Amino acid sequence: MKVKYSVIGVLVAILLALGFLVQATSQQTRMVQDRSRAREANPEDINEWRGKTVMFIGAHPDDEVSCAGTFAKLIKNGNTVYIVHLTSGNKGSRDLEMTSERLAAIRKQEDIAANGVIGIPPENIFFVGYDDGMLEYVPEKELVEKVCWFIRKYRPDALFLFDSGVDWVQWHKTDHRMAAKVALDGTRAAAYHLYFPHHRIYEGLQPFTVVDFFFKSSKEPNFKVDITDVAELKFQAAIKHTSQWGKGNAEYTGPDMDPGDVERQRQRRLRKGPDGKIYENFRRVRESMSF
Ligand SMILES: [Zn+2]
Repeated sequence: MKVKYSVIGVLVAILLALGFLVQATSQQTRMVQDRSRAREANPEDINEWRGKTVMFIGAHPDDEVSCAGTFAKLIKNGNTVYIVHLTSGNKGSRDLEMTSERLAAIRKQEDIAANGVIGIPPENIFFVGYDDGMLEYVPEKELVEKVCWFIRKYRPDALFLFDSGVDWVQWHKTDHRMAAKVALDGTRAAAYHLYFPHHRIYEGLQPFTVVDFFFKSSKEPNFKVDITDVAELKFQAAIKHTSQWGKGNAEYTGPDMDPGDVERQRQRRLRKGPDGKIYENFRRVRESMSF
C-alpha cells in the first residue's frame, strides 16, 4: 500500500513538472515571437507593403514632395503616412510684402492641400513650428526629444529623412542638415526607455526601434522606387506649393500657381528617364541604427 502511494506521488510530481515545462516553453516561444514581430523586416519591394506605418521627418512644409510618389503608392495599398515638419517655413519668401506669420499660415495650407492630393489627411501632418532657418540654434536635446516622442507615439515601420551621410557627414542647406541629424538621433533614443523616461512613465509610450530607413536627397542612393504610375499625382501635389516655386515666391498673389510655373513643374515632375519610367531615389538601410 505504501509503495502504491509513493508511485502515485512520483507520477503526480512528474505530471506537475511537465505542466510547468510546457507552460514555460510556450511563454518563451511567445516572447520570441513578440520580439521577432517587433523586428520583422518590411518586404524589400514597397509595392508589397500593406498596413504599414511610415513617417517622414523634415524641416520645411514641402520637403516631403521629393518622396510624394513613394507615399502615393504606399497609401494606395492601405499604408499610413505621417509627416513631421520641424519648422513652419516662415522665412522662405522674397515677396517684400510678406510677413513671417502670414507665410507660415500660407505654407501650412499649401502643405495640407498638397498632401491631400496624394491621400495624407491633415491630422497626419504635424507642424512643430520652429522658425525657418533657425533649427541649428535650437538646443539639440530639445529637438531629439521631440523626434523621439513622435517615433514612440506613431511607431513607424519605416522612416523617411534627409541623409546624414555614411562615412562623411553629408552637407545640406541649413535646417536640412539639422533635420537629418536630429531625426536619426531622436530615432535612436526612441529605442531605449532610459532616454526621456517620462514619455513612458507619464504617457505610457513604450520604446520603439525603427528598422527601415529611407534617406532622401542622398549622395549615395542605393534604392529606387518606380513612381511612373503616380507621377501625375506628385505633380498635382507639387503645384500646391505656390509660395515656393516660381513667381509666387517673388510676389504671392494667391493659391493658384502661375500657368508658366505649372508647366515648368509638369516638365520637371513628369520627365521620363531613358527606360520610360520615373523614379524616386533613396539610400535605404534595412536594419536598426539604434546601436
Ligand atoms: Zn526644405
